[in-house]
Amino acid sequence: MFKGLKNSLLSIAFPVECRVCQAEVIDSNDGVACSDCWEATTIFLGNEMLCSKCGAFFGPRAAPIEVRCHQCDEHHYESASSLGIYEKALAASILRLKNEPLIPNRLVEPLKQRASLISDIDLLVPIPLSKQRMIERGFNQAEIIAKSVANITGIPVDSHSLVRTTHTPMHRVGMDKRARELTVVNAFKVVRPNLIKGSRILLVDDVFTSGSTASNCAKVLKKAGAERVKVLTLARAVMK
Ligand SMILES: [Zn+2]
Ligand SMILES: [Zn+2]
Repeated sequence: MFKGLKNSLLSIAFPVECRVCQAEVIDSNDGVACSDCWEATTIFLGNEMLCSKCGAFFGPRAAPIEVRCHQCDEHHYESASSLGIYEKALAASILRLKNEPLIPNRLVEPLKQRASLISDIDLLVPIPLSKQRMIERGFNQAEIIAKSVANITGIPVDSHSLVRTTHTPMHRVGMDKRARELTVVNAFKVVRPNLIKGSRILLVDDVFTSGSTASNCAKVLKKAGAERVKVLTLARAVMK
């Protein structure tokens, strides 16, 4: 009887159907994707070939020398890293995070590992939403991620000093490079520079696409006196 009750409660507590392959999700720690889809998703283990500045993915094996993509040469942050590639289970989890403020337990360990590699940070700053989008959604998914990082590291979150001044269209993943860049130029501003001045900041977001959003945020943060800006995202879109 208890077993039946437990299962029916579990089936209410988390979705049974994997949002990637429609198989059953057995383990609630996996969130909205099944364990097979998680296994098929690239989560970085630290031995991949990545751009040493922006984290662009070149291949599954580490290079014997430092590699750079050079697309990020002008970007204003020091470095950017992600938990994995924006695909399969990770993409499904991020799409869910835009509707429900939940990060699957499955991502806590990778988040811990990644956060432990990022040293000398005073402040976690989520990339802000516009006021309009914040009202529509009710929460900022980047802030949910920043709070998870705060739980792991004990570093405080500042969700108020950096604001987005313009409302930009959604679906940036599908836009071309030029269109993406135009939407984020001058889109951010620091409203409490006294909290930013002299700080070493970790910018937090869900997806790193071209890096222009993170770069523009880093630019205004540095203008306000930030000493250093690094970037952490859940996923990295692979640019075609
Ligand atoms: Zn699946
Ligand atoms: Zn790069």
